[in-house]
Amino acid sequence: MIHINENFLTLEKNYLFIEIAKRIKTYMAANPEKPIIRMGIGDVTLPIAPAAVEAMKKAADELGVKETFRGYEDSGAGYDFLRNAVSGYYKKLGADVSPDDIRINDGAKSDCGNIVDIFGNDNTVMLTDPSYPVYVDSNRMSGRNILFADSNEENGFAAMPDNNVHADIIYLCSPNNPTGSAYTRDQLKEWVDYAQENEAVIIFDSAYEAFISEPDVPRSIYCIEGAKKCAIEMCSLSKTAGFTGVRCGYTVIPGELTVKTDSGDVIKLADIWARRQGTKFNGVSYPVQRAAEAVFSDEGLAQIRVNIDYYRRNAMLIADTLTELGIDFTGGKNSPYIWLKCPHDMESWEFFDYLLNEIQVVGTPGAGFGRNGKNWFRLTAFNSYENTSEAMDRFKKLFI
Ligand code: PLP
Repeated sequence: MIHINENFLTLEKNYLFIEIAKRIKTYMAANPEKPIIRMGIGDVTLPIAPAAVEAMKKAADELGVKETFRGYEDSGAGYDFLRNAVSGYYKKLGADVSPDDIRINDGAKSDCGNIVDIFGNDNTVMLTDPSYPVYVDSNRMSGRNILFADSNEENGFAAMPDNNVHADIIYLCSPNNPTGSAYTRDQLKEWVDYAQENEAVIIFDSAYEAFISEPDVPRSIYCIEGAKKCAIEMCSLSKTAGFTGVRCGYTVIPGELTVKTDSGDVIKLADIWARRQGTKFNGVSYPVQRAAEAVFSDEGLAQIRVNIDYYRRNAMLIADTLTELGIDFTGGKNSPYIWLKCPHDMESWEFFDYLLNEIQVVGTPGAGFGRNGKNWFRLTAFNSYENTSEAMDRFKKLFI
């Protein structure tokens, strides 16, 4: 008889966005005349940069001509032109990352989920609570022991290591989804030191690095001394350049990151990952890699900056409004996410209904991201400036 992976039965129901959609639908059916503003959107809304569009079109034309047609890419790690471009981008962020240590993928989510393949199931995993659900679920699927480091009001939703607790694999996301908090240089150094002391590996998700505005907040973990010996970094062009529908990202595993096998041999983690990817992944399409290369050109970087600044302006408006209203929050400064404390001690689903019924603004209940989100609520900066302004005017009317 066939057996399923019973670990899947331990997963929480994936109900967050389904439940949100259901509640909105019910409300709209009963109140068709009341326009809703969606501030829970985790997807970008502005179009991709013209330089990327042009590069993609040109690459598509090349594929239609015998002399310039391309099939599988030999290495499977991504074309040199893109790995060099990503390495050049890292230099601008203040990190020295060799093109050889970069592998191109179809977005950060795949690698965030797939990376667990290369680690033994007997490792202890440490996740922050709340966190991006992929980290939790992908480890539950392989039956690993998971410890949670609390991100809460006391630490500004930036969990720090506890030297009395041992972990082998640590997931950090900075700037954070959902809390919008971002680690400073000193805080990241503490995590790197902890990882080295515990002979652990950090999986660092920097999907929102492009939103960082404060100089003391690193845009890559490789800005921290020692990180190359203990950290894998995952990033993508989804939020940086509006590639959520295009699909392109990159994972860095430095050559310096080595681990000991059970028999005592020292091996490069990057070699194991390359072996895994070589078996299960055939690379990213040529036009998409050309579009990504164009994003990292001077012209492309200037174009994506305009969109990021647009979202940032929305984030600032939300942050300023909440400050004016005396509502506690994290995020907004280095992130498109604003994580606010539900007023009047409300729980996050109760607050969701309250906002929907009273001012027709929709956000995401924090309870969907972990235990510590029970009384917190996520708003995003991805709607239009007009809608964001209107939503904030409604907030003012409700909470002043
Ligand atoms: N990591 C974080 C923290 C995210 O919020 C997301 C998407 O929302 C991703 C990774 C995955 O993004 P993508 O697969 O589009 O690169």
